Amino acid sequence: MSNAPDIAELEQRLVAGDRAALAKAITLVESRRPDHQAAARALLERIMPRTGNAQRVGVTGVPGAGKSTTIEALGCNLTAAGHKVAVLAVDPSSGRTGGSILGDKTRMERLAQDRNAYIRPSPSGGALGGVARKTREAMLLCEAAGFDVIIVETVGVGQSETVVAEMVDIFLALLIPGGGDELQGIKKGLIEIADLIVINKADADPDKARRSARDYKAALHIIAPAHPNWTPPVLTASGLKNEGLDALWQTIQRHREVMTANGHRAARRADQNARWMWAQVTDRLGQAFRAHPEVAALAPELERQVRTGRVPPSTAADRLLKAFGLS
Ligand code: GDP
Repeated sequence: MSNAPDIAELEQRLVAGDRAALAKAITLVESRRPDHQAAARALLERIMPRTGNAQRVGVTGVPGAGKSTTIEALGCNLTAAGHKVAVLAVDPSSGRTGGSILGDKTRMERLAQDRNAYIRPSPSGGALGGVARKTREAMLLCEAAGFDVIIVETVGVGQSETVVAEMVDIFLALLIPGGGDELQGIKKGLIEIADLIVINKADADPDKARRSARDYKAALHIIAPAHPNWTPPVLTASGLKNEGLDALWQTIQRHREVMTANGHRAARRADQNARWMWAQVTDRLGQAFRAHPEVAALAPELERQVRTGRVPPSTAADRLLKAFGLS
């Protein structure tokens, strides 16, 4: 994409559901080129009225938990029922370590061939904040293109779970039944942000999966729920055998109904949007700050002095801010 495209034309094709236009629009929001970014912003402004209609579902789980297997099976069930399903990914390791956790293998081949599904790998490279922005914007573009279910997948690495929970209506933790030390979601704080827990691979050992589900339910009773009207349900399922996935979808619908009725769904989206705005302001201010010539000239030496303890961090910060023009 050398030149910024004709935005009005791209918009028209996008809202008509043209997949090539959707791919092109997502490439635009992912581009680092300033003219592409300006074009992407113009496009996002135009499509805004057509966004927000999808069910936004986040899914996390360790590698091997069965995310792609389960999302593919659920996705195929949903397209068969008349939905249009987009699957996006947030993988902060993508492009940085030379290999991404989510994107390497050929994933979800069957769903990828489904005309009513669209699968987009994680935007590569850069900090988590940038990856998150691109994924949020891709989500809006998918909504404008008529997708009514957006699944955002992530691996349980670092802050990526929090970042995905911040862009969806319901956040689902996919866990595997295990022995002894298995309530890992609790240690990691995952259980606090999950709206729904699914013990996958229940086909392999149904008893173990049930025990696991019981343990999580018990643990959830101890933890104060994030929302008074919703205690995260714990389900068992098999992505591989396509078992329990109808119940899973029904639970997602129930969450939507409950949270819509009590106003929490709209409030959650409103808060997400407001936080997103401030996060972008902070990001771009940080970039502008670091790129400022006088700051850039001073910073390395000041950082060395701070590291060796010769200058207090507060003094160094003060000098950098003054160099930027803040007193
Ligand atoms: P991901 O890394 O979380 O995306 O996990 P995958 O979907 O790639 O699954 C990892 C492995 O677990 C694969 O060999 C799958 O076939 C297997 N698997 C996934 N879901 C199930 C399940 O419900 N039951 C069983 N028995 N195996 C599963």
